[in-house]
Amino acid sequence: MAQAKPRKTRPKPVVAPACRMSRDDVRSFLKALAAAYPNPRSELEYATPFQLLVAVVLSAQTTDAAVNKATRALFARAPDARAMAALGAEGIASYIRSLGLWRAKARNVAELSRLLIERHAGEVPKDRAALEALPGVGRKTANVVLNVAFGQPEMAVDTHIFRLANRTGLAPGKTPRAVEEELVQRVPPEDLRDSHHWLILHGRYVCKARTPECWRCTAAPWCRYRNKTPPPSPATAKPKLRRRPAADPTV
Ligand code: SF4
Repeated sequence: MAQAKPRKTRPKPVVAPACRMSRDDVRSFLKALAAAYPNPRSELEYATPFQLLVAVVLSAQTTDAAVNKATRALFARAPDARAMAALGAEGIASYIRSLGLWRAKARNVAELSRLLIERHAGEVPKDRAALEALPGVGRKTANVVLNVAFGQPEMAVDTHIFRLANRTGLAPGKTPRAVEEELVQRVPPEDLRDSHHWLILHGRYVCKARTPECWRCTAAPWCRYRNKTPPPSPATAKPKLRRRPAADPTV
């Protein structure tokens, strides 16, 4: 019996070349974001690399504002790895119950604090492999710590950056890792550190998940998104509620 010819399958492209920004446009796009966000920094509150690491671990599926609310009291009680390990999972849990996945997060923070003491004299290592060996720390968390705490040109791809990189043509890719590699290749090295913040802030406040607010986006001229959102028309804008005058009790 004749054997069926094996079908030639081309590997699917990770990027869609038609909608990629040119290198020049990448520079102009980032320049516009730099002007829009002149103080690019994390919205998580922390005083040391250890506190940043803990805050990032706690931030999974939670807003930065909610994390800050919990860590203000937690870091006052346990500012470093030794105090955090001594507090233990149950003690940590009592500070973070308002956050999603708090049980697992409390266990991870207690254990990573213990391991930091055991392996790194209580300090946060500046090394990806050592960071990723800690519980609750994946590639994204390691990249945030390396970028924000140690100034290394790494790019952590969170949900905002993944969406924005694909939507705008800045660095299209099917997986966070593919987007990360594209960004590291395409963003000028001197801009990598700040780009992390520019993109997160832009994704959070302008290029939003459901409806990007293109009409007020200063980076729009270089963005390759085709269905740019027009300004809301006065007819669809929400009417302002007028307050009724208070009833006159003397009438
Ligand atoms: S023009 Fe629209 S889609 Fe493009 S970056 Fe700005 S907000 Fe996002």
